[in-house]
Amino acid sequence: MAVAKPLVFHPHRSGGDLASRLSRAVAGDVLFDAASRGRYATDASIYQVEPVGVLVPKCVDDVRAAIAICRELRVPVLARGAGSSQCGQTVGAALVIDTTKHLDRITGFDREALTVRVEPGVVLDQLNAWLKPHGLWFPVDVSTSAQATLGGMAGNNSCGSRSIAYGNMVHNVLAVDALLSDGTEARFGPEREMDRGNARLAALVGGLGAIGDREQDEIERQVPKVLRRVGGYNIDVCCAQSERPYTADGSVNYAHLLVGSEGTLAWTRELTLRLAPLPSHRTLGVVNFPTLYRAMECARHLVGLRPSAVELVDRTMIDLARGNPAFRAVIERALIGEPDAILLVEFIGETEDEPVRRLRDLVHLMGELGLPGSVVEMTDAPAQRALWEVRKAGLNIMMSLKGDGKPVSFIEDCAVPLEHLADYVDRLTQVFARHGTRGTWYAHASVGTLHVRPILDMRRDGAVKMRAIAEEASAMVREYKGAFSGEHGDGLVRSEWVGWQFGPRLARAFEEIKDLFDPAGLMNPGKIVRGTKMDDASLFRFRPGYRTQPLATAFDWSAWNVQSDAATGALTPPGTGGDPAGGFAKAVEMCNNNGHCRKFDAGTMCPSYRATRDEQHSTRGRANTLRLALSGELGADAFTSDAVREALDLCVSCKGCRRECPTGVDMAKMKIEALYHRQRAHGLRFRDRLIAHLPRWAPWAARLPWLANLRNTLPGAARLGEALLGFSAQRSLPAWRRDTFQGGAGAARDADAANADVVLFVDTFTNYFEPENARAAMAVLRAAGRRVHVARAVEGDAEPARPLCCGRTFLAAGLVDEAKHEARRVVAALSPHVERGATIVGLEPSCLLSLRDEFLVMGLGEAAQRLAEHALLVEEYLVREQRAGRLDLPLAALSQKRALVHPHCHQKAFDAAAPVREALSLVPDLEVEMVEASCCGMAGSFGYDAAHHDVSVKMAELALLPQVRAAHPDTLIVADGTSCRHQIADLTRGSGRREALHAIRVLERALPKS
Ligand SMILES: Cc1cc2nc3c(=O)[nH]c(=O)nc-3n(C[C@H](O)[C@H](O)[C@H](O)COP(=O)(O)OP(=O)(O)OC[C@H]3O[C@@H](n4cnc5c(N)ncnc54)[C@H](O)[C@@H]3O)c2cc1C
Ligand code: SF4
Ligand code: SF4
Repeated sequence: MAVAKPLVFHPHRSGGDLASRLSRAVAGDVLFDAASRGRYATDASIYQVEPVGVLVPKCVDDVRAAIAICRELRVPVLARGAGSSQCGQTVGAALVIDTTKHLDRITGFDREALTVRVEPGVVLDQLNAWLKPHGLWFPVDVSTSAQATLGGMAGNNSCGSRSIAYGNMVHNVLAVDALLSDGTEARFGPEREMDRGNARLAALVGGLGAIGDREQDEIERQVPKVLRRVGGYNIDVCCAQSERPYTADGSVNYAHLLVGSEGTLAWTRELTLRLAPLPSHRTLGVVNFPTLYRAMECARHLVGLRPSAVELVDRTMIDLARGNPAFRAVIERALIGEPDAILLVEFIGETEDEPVRRLRDLVHLMGELGLPGSVVEMTDAPAQRALWEVRKAGLNIMMSLKGDGKPVSFIEDCAVPLEHLADYVDRLTQVFARHGTRGTWYAHASVGTLHVRPILDMRRDGAVKMRAIAEEASAMVREYKGAFSGEHGDGLVRSEWVGWQFGPRLARAFEEIKDLFDPAGLMNPGKIVRGTKMDDASLFRFRPGYRTQPLATAFDWSAWNVQSDAATGALTPPGTGGDPAGGFAKAVEMCNNNGHCRKFDAGTMCPSYRATRDEQHSTRGRANTLRLALSGELGADAFTSDAVREALDLCVSCKGCRRECPTGVDMAKMKIEALYHRQRAHGLRFRDRLIAHLPRWAPWAARLPWLANLRNTLPGAARLGEALLGFSAQRSLPAWRRDTFQGGAGAARDADAANADVVLFVDTFTNYFEPENARAAMAVLRAAGRRVHVARAVEGDAEPARPLCCGRTFLAAGLVDEAKHEARRVVAALSPHVERGATIVGLEPSCLLSLRDEFLVMGLGEAAQRLAEHALLVEEYLVREQRAGRLDLPLAALSQKRALVHPHCHQKAFDAAAPVREALSLVPDLEVEMVEASCCGMAGSFGYDAAHHDVSVKMAELALLPQVRAAHPDTLIVADGTSCRHQIADLTRGSGRREALHAIRVLERALPKS
């Protein structure tokens, strides 16, 4: 047999050749610039290795060509899906092939046979959404289902929460169509169906068979007999050691050898998967335990009831959920007293009775186990869903730990037989304590795979502790005859343990398997076989000597500039974390690359990734670009470079990530900080300056609206505007009005300041472009009996006549000093009202909510904090008053009976969307439906830019516009954001034109006519 020579690879010599040859040979994107390579240098592990380059193939032919060129140039190849691997599987000095953008088709479906064929880049949630109407699903339900690809799941032999019922990937992949590094293409499936006419394939299969026969005894001796074992190659295809057989009849399926091979054997072109009927009925029993030990002791008895999942939530997670207002009620419903741990035991069935009956069995069993009355029974689906969400969110909160100590994944998925689970947890907890750290336990008790990540500081003594803990944990795993990797695979962190787990003889057999498939050693080298040391610090993301550049930041980032105590979690005071960038670098470093910002289904994050599917335009891509720039890894002055500007360019500052990123990466705020430094280094384009200063020149434009509106009315002016200023000619710009709310012909009369209960903060956009919204607010608030005062600049203000402005347009351009000036005017004007006890109410979400967000990091002191606590959007105010029984608002039914609401992204980010629904529901007989969409794509001035026009339209067309167009003509379209309304009007021009209204206008219409 040919033995692979170690690949001698010189990135800088091979990279240039490779890039130019690839560019000529493929239709997809060839990315070799430093920033792109940097963005593909990490996954959800602790490692960072710069790839040679990146290919985003358009088709399989691109991959064929790339592998051929790499073979010739002896450059390794590294397949990548979402890059959410935790062990460093997807980092390496190789050509990275990212399948997610184009290779995402479902290519075959057989309803009768319950099979589907997919390309590797299909994301699990997308597949399941597609299957749902057929009453089917692919049941390997990994937690990263929103971003994980089927190619990556197969690569890692992934496992879901319900693996006890459905098995892992290896139990659900029926065939793999693969490309080998020597150009061979073959379908790997049942042995009897393998193409023996192909000499290369016949030799390969023959060689594999021989290894299997030869090693049978060793396999039986060394391969752990647990369901959850994903380390090494599945050499037991010939005599499966898993608790669940790989095939029903015990026959060999060579696809199963590729599953879990982490891209080291072949490149997957297509997968044939086994489907399952969607369970029609579910019940959930939440068992409350006095101790974690007791919970773990009982797990093995619970699996006897054949549940579909038994998931652990420990005390720390219970407390975290209780501390979160969004989850408190849900978790409280699941608790009986003060349990130390709960187990979520799920039952599924085809009939309604079956899972209910098994839930009763659970109650009975717990009585027999000495814990009567310990089960909370949940039979209604919404309650069950809500509790599963809490389980997921608990992990997210844990991941958001500030400081350099982070929960590190390296023994997070050891699997031990259930009878030893309690002892294992107990002993490992003591190991953590001995090393001055702690871990939170959660997840798959049903299969003995409990997730736990000790908190380690990888910049300091983390590597030493990691090895010490791994050694102690592995000794226990061996003692209990468990698997060192029960879920996440080998990658860089665990390949060195393969020999330990399987013994030297099987480790050599693995090398033989690798060499049979990939004699040149091209495919993802250094993983599973011939691995590096887990604590090789030269491969760490935060290597010894990692430093960030000093930065005088515009915003106050000191809340991130802290350290945490690994044992207690206590944080040091703000500003003490030792970050020379004042905490900004530490905020950026919060991104742990889990890839959740690649999701498509729900929420807002991340619209620019959804529209482009480019890593560069995901929150993660941006955070990585900023981190690399701040740490000098992209060269000198990279922070203010074009590479950073380009990565941030399509960020629409929707703040979706602020709320939805598990670790709280707030890219909108980071973008402002980065733009601040960029404009100081390179200045601003005239167009950006013009938009930024709009609040300053608006009073003049409003005096001569016909002149200011010529751009919209004069033939040819739009084209000229695009050529000179970059405003898209395909857009109409907001029209200037003479009847502004403050100062113009329509100037409002209001209550005097001293007596007002409500102070209306009228933003620049409402004042100049849609004053009727402010008038509607006055009318509604007055109808509710409120004395309303309109906020104005204080006496002594340098520009007393100019309306107040939150400074949003300045922030969008990075002109933070100007924005601070505006903010100071606002704080000065509104603070006296706040001190009097009045509520500040606003209309435009992005403006009002900046009082609760950016104002707090501008160094404006206690007054800004107090203001933030009293600033509400008008619907939030109405709902607050209604709930307190203080609202008496006479409203009559409208002729329209339905309203479709598109909440502004900032409303969603600040939990201010639900109040819109609640406020509109005050109108009798009005049925209110919320649009499920990300950003509208207009995002302030973003969509007016000619360079952004197409992506802006694409964002709107992804979800918002189809729902608006589908709405009955009689349905009211409601959107509180000025730019959202403009986008809807602009993109429904023509026969189906729809006009969206601010919610306050709908309420105004419902006021009884006097
Ligand atoms: C917060 C968090 C939670 C997680 N929860 C789970 C969980 O519940 N269960 C679980 O099993 N895992 C979990 N994981 C790990 C990871 O998300 C899964 O393994 C996931 O299936 C990986 O999918 P991916 O698309 O990100 O693959 P990637 O990480 O991109 O790739 C995974 C492996 O597959 C290989 N690969 C990708 N495409 C191909 C191809 N076309 N041909 C050949 N090889 C290929 C890659 O080289 C790599 O070795 C979790 C990770 C995180 C960060
Ligand atoms: S930005 Fe947030 S969601 Fe995206 S990868 Fe980083 S941590 Fe995950
Ligand atoms: S602010 Fe919005 S567009 Fe920008 S990174 Fe976050 S989610 Fe994406």
